[in-house]
Amino acid sequence: MALLSIVLPAYNEEENIANTAGVLSGLLEENKIEYELVFISDGSRDGTFSEIQKAAVRNPRIRGAEFSRNFGKEPAIFAGLEMARGNAVIVMDCDLQHPPQVIPQMWKLWLEGAEVVEGIKESRGKESLGYKLSAGLFYKVMSRLIKMDMSASSDFKLLDRKVVDVLLTLPERNTFFRALSFWVGFRTERVSYEVQERRYGKSKWSFFSLMKYAVTDATSFSTLPLQLVTVMGLVSILFSVILFIQTLAKYLSGTAVEGFTTVILLILIIGGFLMLSLGIIGHYIARIYEEVKGRPKYIISRTTEDAEGKEAE
Ligand code: UDP
Ligand code: MG
Repeated sequence: MALLSIVLPAYNEEENIANTAGVLSGLLEENKIEYELVFISDGSRDGTFSEIQKAAVRNPRIRGAEFSRNFGKEPAIFAGLEMARGNAVIVMDCDLQHPPQVIPQMWKLWLEGAEVVEGIKESRGKESLGYKLSAGLFYKVMSRLIKMDMSASSDFKLLDRKVVDVLLTLPERNTFFRALSFWVGFRTERVSYEVQERRYGKSKWSFFSLMKYAVTDATSFSTLPLQLVTVMGLVSILFSVILFIQTLAKYLSGTAVEGFTTVILLILIIGGFLMLSLGIIGHYIARIYEEVKGRPKYIISRTTEDAEGKEAE
């Protein structure tokens, strides 16, 4: 019988683990779906991993691992994909903001031959206005950059074993899971869902972490910002040709004394363009540097299997 793995990244979510594990196993057993739950604790500083261990003792279908430090949600998702053994894998948040009731629908679509089932946000739930605006802007820009409609997409999705294996062979370290599942292609179906409210704990994103995430994702997925540097260069050249002619004309007609304002403005504009360009290029060099170092995406410090081994000794 086909096995469904559910990957749940968790960072400081001790209040959520037991509840989420209970809700999911209840739902899947009710729907007669063979399953396993893979919790990845992303270097949590609270009791998340011990909660995962407790859940694993109660239910042998639950497994988990702990990172040596906080690596971020992306590495946690990839660690989960690596650990999952299922014929299909669903990735979802462990705060149940991704409604579990959608899982049987995704499973059904997979049984009917879908290889990727995208969870599409119907509404963004209750989020602050600032968050909504910045998330909205981020998805607009990303959709442009990737040339795929990403608005309303999320990390809630089902992937066939084939797709998981492809994702695991990608050598890059700066991953952007949400967009990669579009990028790999495959037969894709969509399921829409309403974002639920978080029952326990609070969101891990601040405005700044979201901004950093946006810049990193945009540059790890697209080289368009680099081309922007070329465009800025072209604009400057065009500008300088016009001014060159004007300056020359003034000089030849003998009225070339004034013009300090122009000089100052030009220095400011060109200086600004140059620094911005250097910044953009620098950002890409930083990305290349990170990739070239070839460090692993994450480090696992312990798993629920280790703990079981120790108890048996
Ligand atoms: N998460 C994680 N590592 C992090 C931040 C978040 O694994 O560094 C997990 C978190 O535990 C949750 C999911 O990613 O399961 C989504 O995080 P959160 O609910 O804070 O984000 P939001 O729902 O507000 O976008
Ligand atoms: Mg959440």
